[in-house]
Amino acid sequence: MSKLSITVNQQRDTLCRAEGSSFGKVQMQGMLHPAPFNFFHGPAAVGTCYQKAHPVHRAGINCLHNIPGNGRRSTYVISINNYLHYRIPLAFYSRCRHSIGMNITCHGAAREVTGSCHQVQIGTTNFLIDCGMFQGGKDLVRLNYQEFAFDPKEIDFLICTHAHIDHCGLMPKLAKKGFKGKIYATPATADLLPIMMADAAFIQEKDTEHENKRRLRKGEEPRDPLYTREDADKASKLIEPIDYRQTHQINSNVTFRFQDAGHVIGSAIIELFLTENGRETKVVFSGDLGQWDVPIIEDPTLILEADYVFMETTYGDKLHKKTMPRKKALFEIIKHTYNKGGKLLIPSFALERTQELLYLLSELQTEEADFPKMKVYLDSPLAIKITQVFRNHPEIYDEDTKARSDKPFNFPGLVLSETVAKSMEINASKEPCIVIAGSGMCTAGRIRHHFKHGIWDPKTTILFVGYQAPGTLGRVILDGAKEIRMMGLTLAVKADVERIGAFSAHGDRDDLLRWLEAFKQKPKRVFLVHGEKEVSESFAGLLKSRGYDAVVPEINKPVISE
Ligand SMILES: [Zn+2]
Repeated sequence: MSKLSITVNQQRDTLCRAEGSSFGKVQMQGMLHPAPFNFFHGPAAVGTCYQKAHPVHRAGINCLHNIPGNGRRSTYVISINNYLHYRIPLAFYSRCRHSIGMNITCHGAAREVTGSCHQVQIGTTNFLIDCGMFQGGKDLVRLNYQEFAFDPKEIDFLICTHAHIDHCGLMPKLAKKGFKGKIYATPATADLLPIMMADAAFIQEKDTEHENKRRLRKGEEPRDPLYTREDADKASKLIEPIDYRQTHQINSNVTFRFQDAGHVIGSAIIELFLTENGRETKVVFSGDLGQWDVPIIEDPTLILEADYVFMETTYGDKLHKKTMPRKKALFEIIKHTYNKGGKLLIPSFALERTQELLYLLSELQTEEADFPKMKVYLDSPLAIKITQVFRNHPEIYDEDTKARSDKPFNFPGLVLSETVAKSMEINASKEPCIVIAGSGMCTAGRIRHHFKHGIWDPKTTILFVGYQAPGTLGRVILDGAKEIRMMGLTLAVKADVERIGAFSAHGDRDDLLRWLEAFKQKPKRVFLVHGEKEVSESFAGLLKSRGYDAVVPEINKPVISE
C-alpha cells in the first residue's frame, strides 16, 4: 500500500509538496506523465498541516504550480494505485485544489445573522452561495475588512439567494479582489442587485470620507473604502438572470434550480445537484425564508427531497405575535400617533418591508373610513428605486396582489422624497405624518435625522417593523434605552416605541418547522445558519427532539467533507 503525505508551506505563493514512493502513474492534462509524484515539489515546503486517512479511488489537484514552460494553472488528474490518503486544508485552497468528494464551508452567517457566504467545493468546481456583508456592532463590521478566507480569483461562480445586503453586500469586494465568474440570480434579484450594491458602495465611500477627516485630525493615515461604486459596477456586470424553477446545469459537477423563498421579491431557495464520480448529492440552501400569507409575494416553496439542508434560523426560537393582524396593529398605531399630533417614524428596510407598508397603507386608506388625513413620506431614494422594480415584476406577485385593480404602490397622500431638501421639509413640518425612511436598523440614512428632530418628543412614535441586530441603534432603542448617542448628540428617548413583529420577512419558529417537515424523508443532516448562536442552538435542540441530525456550524470550518 502506498503512503503519501502532503506538506504545505504557509507562504501563499508556495505550493504543496508530496513525498513518498510507488505512487503509480501521474496523468496530467489527459496525457500519461511519467514523472514521480514529487513532480509537484514546491520550494521550501515546511510544516505538515493536515492529514487524514481516507481511501478513494481517484483524486485531482489543480495547482498554480510553476511548471517549466507553463506558468499557468494546470489540471492534474492523479491515479495512485487506487489508493490515496491526503487532504489539503482549505486555507491553502487558493493554490491547491483537490477533488476528493465535497466540501462546504460557512464563511459568514455561522452563529450570527449577517455575512451569509457559503463556499461549496465539488470535484474541481469551487463556488459561493451569497457573499454578504456583516452588519451590527463594531466587531462584526470589522470582519468586512478582513481578507476573504478563500482566493476570490479561484471562485468559479456565485449563486445569489436574494438582494439583501447581508447576502450580497460583499460582492463588490469580491469583484475588486479579482472574482470574474458569473453571479446567478432570479430576474427580480438581478434587477435589484445593482441598485443595492451601488447604494452600499456609496455608503462605504461616504463613511470613509468621514472617517478620513477624523484620521487626518488625529494625524493618522487615511484608509481606502471597503469598495467603491466602480467595484459595485464591476460586480453588476457579472450578473446573469435565471428564472425560478428552471434547472440550470453549469458543468458536470453542478446543476441548480431556484425556488421561491417567499422572503422578499426575487428571493430564492437554491436546490443544488452536485455530482462527482457518478454520485449525485442534493444540497438545499433555504436562503432566507418568508412567512406564509403575506402580501405581494408568494409563500415559501416546500422542497421535498435533499441529502443536506442549510437553513436560516433568524427567528428559530420565537413565534411572531399573531393575535392582532399586522394591518390592524398598524392602523391602531397610526390613529394613536395622529391623536397625539405627532409623527410616526418607521425605520424600514428599503427592500420588501417598505413596499409591504405601502401596500397595507393603500389598503387601509381604501377600507377604513376614519383613516386620518396624514401624508405618507417615502423618504428614501433607495426605497423609491426598489419600489420601481416591484412595479416592473408583476409576474411574481401572489394572487391577491395580481387581482388588485388599484395601484398598490401608489395612493393619494404618498409623497416620494428623493432629494435632501425634500427630506428637510418633513422635519420643518409640524403636521402629523408618517415617515418611512432608511436604514432599517437605524445605522445610517435619513431616519437618524428624523430621530434628531423628534425622538425626544413624546408626540412622536417610532415603529420597528424589521429585525434589529445586536449593537445597532435600532436594537438599543427597541431594548428600551432612555437616551441614545448619535451624530455627536445625546438625545432623550421620549417617543413611544412600538414593534410589529408579524411584519418580519422571516418566518418564525413554526414557519421554519413547517418548511423543514415538508421533506418526505429527513435530510441526513440539517445545518442551522443565519441566526444568533443561542437561537440556532435552541432550534437545533428542537430538531434533535424530533429525530433530526442538526448542527450549528462554526465560521470558516468545513462542515461537510466526504
Ligand atoms: Zn434577507
